[in-house]
Amino acid sequence: MARKKHEDAGPGDAAGGESGAGSREIVPAEREGERAWQAALRPQTFADYIGQKELIDNLRVSVRAARENGWALDHFLFAGPPGLGKTTLAHVIANELGVNLVVSSGPAIDHKGMLAGLLTQLGERDALFIDEIHRLSPIVEENLYPAMEDFRFDLFIGDGPHAKAMAMQLPRFTLLGATTRMGLLSAPLLDRFGFHWQLRYYDLPDMTAIVQRSARLIGVGIDGAGATEIARRARSTPRIANRLLRRVRDFATVEGNGTIDAKIASSALDRLAVDHAGLDTLDRAYLTIVCERFDGGPVGVEAIAASLSEERGTLEEVVEPFLLQIGFIARTPRGRVATAAAYAHLGLPAPAKAPSGGGPQGRLF
Ligand code: ADP
Repeated sequence: MARKKHEDAGPGDAAGGESGAGSREIVPAEREGERAWQAALRPQTFADYIGQKELIDNLRVSVRAARENGWALDHFLFAGPPGLGKTTLAHVIANELGVNLVVSSGPAIDHKGMLAGLLTQLGERDALFIDEIHRLSPIVEENLYPAMEDFRFDLFIGDGPHAKAMAMQLPRFTLLGATTRMGLLSAPLLDRFGFHWQLRYYDLPDMTAIVQRSARLIGVGIDGAGATEIARRARSTPRIANRLLRRVRDFATVEGNGTIDAKIASSALDRLAVDHAGLDTLDRAYLTIVCERFDGGPVGVEAIAASLSEERGTLEEVVEPFLLQIGFIARTPRGRVATAAAYAHLGLPAPAKAPSGGGPQGRLF
């Protein structure tokens, strides 16, 4: 069974807190209750994990080979915006392997001794999950290399000229890394993973299935149209779907008969300021700034962040990937540009120079 031994930072905590333009549904500074809620809904097996089919098919093969041959699974890295299921995958993999999972995050491992402490908790074939792995300090990262490559940890006993180097042998373990910023990973660290994968945003059928599964688990009635309405407005992100489901359930309980249909879902989400494209206050503020203050761009992310009083990292890791995915912004060598689809969404007339948009424009991270 997978079990957590160490959890200094919750999944995706690194991306920043709630700030700037209004309350953000997707910035993952979760309160305890929210975290427990998400954890309770977490799939435990490959069969439970909805979507990301190509990745899951690959993982099934690797996990089966490792289990049947008694091997340690190769080190795996998962990349993608917060809430897409990277932490969940680590739990599923450990569970399917039948090994323990030790959980930590890049910012939490702030010195070499902390890394040693985590590694020495591991038994043979156990897994270590490091969230936000791009935020490891260089010194910790260097000490991770021999551990990943040779299952060795170099210790120094004593100080100064009398210090003695000693290599500590570690059990064969699997490192599972997650990052919202693949581009910030150093090449030597990336090279030491046997496999890396960019998680995709979920399509509507998968998002609907996630909402239906979560509703079943929490015991709230929901019809097909209600599930689709929440799925459509959840930014193609399971964590947001679960969060919205919780809010809509409250509305259905207080104002309806306890069952979620399209009408209740739609009116609840309108009141939560989540619009029909799934954009929330910060998304709309971002687009409005680009369209109105910067005349549709091109504009650099730094200037947008300053105008919104928002962290640049939050824009790059959370806001922009989705706006890019749905074709509301495009990337050019000179900066971000709002597309005609973004203008139409805001109800503004588009300038002739605006690209048409409406489809995926590539990746920013
Ligand atoms: P990340 O680590 O990428 O930020 P998480 O793994 O914490 O995201 O996922 C957030 C929540 O979304 C989980 O608690 C889980 O309930 C739900 N979730 C994520 N991926 C899936 C999936 N593929 N199927 C069903 N639920 C999912």
